[in-house]
Amino acid sequence: MPKLFKKIKEIRSFLKELRRNESNLSVGFVPTMGYLHKGHMELIKLSKLQNEVTVVSIYVNPLQFGAGEDYERYPRDLERDLAMCEEAGVDVVFAPEDQEMYPELPKVKIDIPGLTDRLEGAYRPGHFNGVAIVVLKLLHIVQPDRAYFGEKDYQQLKVVERLVKDLSLPVEIVPVPTVREEDGLACSSRNVYLSPEERQSALAIYKSFLFAQRLFQSGNTDANLLKEAIKDFLLKHPHVRKIDYVEITDEELNPVEEVKEGNRILVALYVGNTRLIDNWRLSHEKL
Ligand code: AMP
Repeated sequence: MPKLFKKIKEIRSFLKELRRNESNLSVGFVPTMGYLHKGHMELIKLSKLQNEVTVVSIYVNPLQFGAGEDYERYPRDLERDLAMCEEAGVDVVFAPEDQEMYPELPKVKIDIPGLTDRLEGAYRPGHFNGVAIVVLKLLHIVQPDRAYFGEKDYQQLKVVERLVKDLSLPVEIVPVPTVREEDGLACSSRNVYLSPEERQSALAIYKSFLFAQRLFQSGNTDANLLKEAIKDFLLKHPHVRKIDYVEITDEELNPVEEVKEGNRILVALYVGNTRLIDNWRLSHEKL
């Protein structure tokens, strides 16, 4: 069983002791909101491969949810997560309560103009402030050598990379490609909200990426044309209710007009009442 900590002081002194006993020990860290799935497992697998010790945090961070979002109903099952961590060979799990993480509401605000206010940030005001605060706190608690983030949340990855760069944090951020179900739907804890019919419609996102990739490969490089084609494609599917955005950007999330290999399609939409996000790297490679 992984060693479970709920208190900051206790995990800190445990990790300090570990490092004292073995000075060159590298620590890999995988921050999550729990209800673990294959995507999280890939991050854990890579951390296990690259580090002597792997720490996983499980914490549904209230600060990154807006009013009317799914904070209360977000799936939680610590027993199940612990069993999956054990199976994966995780050494340490940090699962704090709200009172431990936020005895008071943080007053610090983190804002990266041009990054935290766009795309997800435009539709979920304050979301990336919450993400940045919790990630910074967790990095300061665990002090890992490497931290693992999924490309599934591509903008989040870019926010974290920028924090590390601007604040000279002593950690290497390791991006992990998106893990998908067999049929192409990106693994997400939120997929449990989908009814079987909605689950089928949610596949439209992946299919729209393949569709756009085919258009790109046959010479369509006009970003507006591709975005409109993707939107039309998505809206043909039942239960696809509202598209927050379909955007095409370069690797650093700047919008592009002329699409090139390596650009990203980013999508946020509602299937029924469930808001899903996904993204795709456009390439010339045949699928
Ligand atoms: P979450 O528990 O949803 O906050 O995710 C925790 C970490 O796992 C984040 O770095 C996510 O980007 C990553 N993650 C979530 N889903 C996937 C996926 N399907 N593939 C790869 N990484 C993922």
